[in-house]
Amino acid sequence: MTALLEVRSLQVEFDRGTPVLDGVDVRVRAGEILGVIGETGSGKTTLARAVVGLAPVAAGRITVDGRERTGLRGRALREARRAGAVQYMFQDPLRSLDPDLTVLRLVGQPLAVAGVPAGERRGRVLEALDLVGLDHALAGRRPGLLSGGQRQRVALARAIVTRPRLLLADEPVSALDASNRNHVLRLLDELRRELDLAVVLISHDLESLAGVADRLAVLYRGRIVESGPAAEVLERPLHPYTALLAASAPGGGPERRAELARLRAPAPARPESSGCAFAHRCAFADAGCAGRPAESDPLPGRTVACHRSADWRHTEAS
Ligand code: SF4
Repeated sequence: MTALLEVRSLQVEFDRGTPVLDGVDVRVRAGEILGVIGETGSGKTTLARAVVGLAPVAAGRITVDGRERTGLRGRALREARRAGAVQYMFQDPLRSLDPDLTVLRLVGQPLAVAGVPAGERRGRVLEALDLVGLDHALAGRRPGLLSGGQRQRVALARAIVTRPRLLLADEPVSALDASNRNHVLRLLDELRRELDLAVVLISHDLESLAGVADRLAVLYRGRIVESGPAAEVLERPLHPYTALLAASAPGGGPERRAELARLRAPAPARPESSGCAFAHRCAFADAGCAGRPAESDPLPGRTVACHRSADWRHTEAS
């Protein structure tokens, strides 16, 4: 596939020698939503921040639409930001939106940065408000007078007002109630089609990603342990950690509970010098897990990094 975003062997370290991301590969096409799932500390926010130049890249390569984005600094970074082709939607709109500015100013800011003449900005802002289903009457309000769902839609309008090619949405629905969450996810789904937008949708919640992501990448301690078409990954996970996430989702009957108990069984003694980041929690770890599991592609379009991907499912937990 031709990728709009291509991340290869990405390594990010904040403290020298302690990788937060360790050899991450990601590809996203125009018009596609890649869901990135992982627990707090798995590195998913760092991945998005590295793409927009907010995290230090120790090794690897990032390109967007064929253009180099790896480790941009100074003027090159400012120019890339000004172009507005990549936008980052922060986790918490209440904190990321300046409380003293009106919606009109907030949504218009990326246009000002991109050098769009002041006379054109109002029309572009109102167009963006239309795209996210916000009434023009809200343009004069400040964030404090908006509901949580409206604030998140303002953040979305601000992220798409420059008509980016790539949107990195970091936990965009984690602070919303169920109805607003579904609304924002539906909007993202519509916008990627309407604008042919590539979206990286980051979440710790599988349910939020399940209905909207085309593909999933599962991050654990800085490594992608599994990836593939969302429906297939959820239906038949190849990695024990993905299976644990899927089985932990709300709902499900006795079968699901039994599967969860099996997956949550205590890990046997950790294999000496284990190279698998999940070994300390994995009920299926054995002596063969001592080396770092290489990524394999056992099925078309799917990858997994587990020594026992072919047989753990048929094995009793240790
Ligand atoms: S490589 Fe071993 S320890 Fe790691 S997830 Fe697979 S079975 Fe578990």
